[in-house]
Amino acid sequence: MSNDPKLRAKAAKLVAGKNVAVIGGGSVAIDAAVSAKKLGAVKVYVISLEGLDELPADSEEIELAHKSNIIFKPQSRVTNIKGDGKKITGIDGVETEWIKKGGPLAPANARDVKGCEFSLKIDALIHAIGSRVEDSALETLKGAGVKTGDGNRTLVDGTYRTSVKGVFAGGDMIASGRKLNTVAAAVYDGKTAAMAIHNFLTSTKKGGIK
Ligand SMILES: Cc1cc2nc3c(=O)[nH]c(=O)nc-3n(C[C@H](O)[C@H](O)[C@H](O)COP(=O)(O)OP(=O)(O)OC[C@H]3O[C@@H](n4cnc5c(N)ncnc54)[C@H](O)[C@@H]3O)c2cc1C
Repeated sequence: MSNDPKLRAKAAKLVAGKNVAVIGGGSVAIDAAVSAKKLGAVKVYVISLEGLDELPADSEEIELAHKSNIIFKPQSRVTNIKGDGKKITGIDGVETEWIKKGGPLAPANARDVKGCEFSLKIDALIHAIGSRVEDSALETLKGAGVKTGDGNRTLVDGTYRTSVKGVFAGGDMIASGRKLNTVAAAVYDGKTAAMAIHNFLTSTKKGGIK
């Protein structure tokens, strides 16, 4: 959660005194849920396809969520979002089970369990099912001919060169194969890329990845 008092006040306005549902089971989902609770939300639900022992979030974060009285709806999915034309009023969901036990923890491997439908009265819904590169940044990059890979993330080599000569990338926007994107990783990328940029500018052999 941000330490900026203005941002905190803005976020509090959205969740204080309200029931909040967070979709997702990763660190961002748990962070959002605990933050909503800290900012005065009444009930906070975390709805995830994964079971409690399969959540991708860090175990310390999950423990904190339990201590913060976050209500987990594991192995579940949202089927309908309800509203009154002006604001969200609730969601419908259903419990799920894995089609192939030990298979991928993904929507394609989950099936609904008949008779286990539920409805929740909520005032705010937070999507935390993965991040993506901002559209404007993607357009600029693709316009410049920068090659992207999985999830539209930029392809780079070991020195953070993209497919376009003189264009370097790092942080969350690169296809790094990292399990977790963190501030520390982004800072490392930035530092390493800066050294590569220096070499690029001072070297006579300049080029991008193939
Ligand atoms: C809710 C949440 C909680 C997190 N908690 C943690 C944590 O506790 N610890 C941790 O290590 N990591 C955490 N992370 C991950 C961490 O925030 C990211 O890994 C890190 O911020 C990545 O840095 P970045 O510079 O690649 O991207 P960002 O921090 O996203 O910065 C990208 C910047 O590019 C700008 N931008 C976008 N498009 C354009 C454009 N076209 N032109 C110019 N500028 C543009 C954006 O405005 C933004 O300022 C969290 C992430 C989330 C979402």
